[in-house]
Amino acid sequence: MHHPQATAAAPTPGLQLERALTLLEHCGHPAPDGLPGSPEWLQSLIDSLVDLSSRDPLTGLANRRSFELALAREIDRVARVGESALLLAIDIDHFKRINDTYGHAAGDQVIRAISAALAETVRPMDMVARVGGEEFAILLPNCPPAFGPHVAQRLRQRVSRTVVRTDEGPVLTATVSVGGAFAPQWVRSNARLWMERADRQLYRAKAEGRDRVCLEPSAEPSVSAEEKGLLFGTSQFQDLE
Ligand code: GH3
Ligand code: MG
Ligand code: MG
Repeated sequence: MHHPQATAAAPTPGLQLERALTLLEHCGHPAPDGLPGSPEWLQSLIDSLVDLSSRDPLTGLANRRSFELALAREIDRVARVGESALLLAIDIDHFKRINDTYGHAAGDQVIRAISAALAETVRPMDMVARVGGEEFAILLPNCPPAFGPHVAQRLRQRVSRTVVRTDEGPVLTATVSVGGAFAPQWVRSNARLWMERADRQLYRAKAEGRDRVCLEPSAEPSVSAEEKGLLFGTSQFQDLE
């Protein structure tokens, strides 16, 4: 398909830099340090853009891409060091109702308030990400299995007690459902499989009534055929043959 816009003259490099500065300003970044155009100024601008590329613009949380990179690094670390790590998948309950009743702008304010509540409730070493519209994920490195249920319940409660005073007037509250899975210590998994296990528990929490936590039992982590393949270095489809 040929788009006429694609053949329009490319913007000049100066104009692109203007756009980058506008974008940074829009996302609340301070102006680059140093004299405009100087090497120090350019480096500061590049640093800000790199930071922006790993964040979600609405909430300032890590975005899905940077979260998946962190998950892959953590899987590697768990396999080498043997510390347990917990992954939580979190989804706002009946969020469509909030949007439909109070409008999209109020919905966005609820998303921001819940993001802040989640980020305030975990340790600085934990990574909170917005991985979808009203979906979040948290990576908790060095989280002992016995501690998992407490931290997940603390997050759920903290959200349910959060009161959002919207700009439009209504005062709103919301709940979340939380699913979680520990990184298996004896299997080289991958980020996608780990996310799928946490998501499965999230669906269970939704099905069981929402505003609750479901964690995969950590004593007997369920290992999929694909993970067995990764463990033994065989074809991931061997078990299916
Ligand atoms: P459930 O309890 O099953 O999760 O119900 P739900 O209504 O939250 O679930 P569903 O996933 O069907 O709806 C999510 C809604 O979130 C649909 C979409 O319009 C809305 N949404 C997604 N991204 C955004 C966003 O950035 N801002 C706002 N305001 N709404 C969003
Ligand atoms: Mg959802
Ligand atoms: Mg939802």
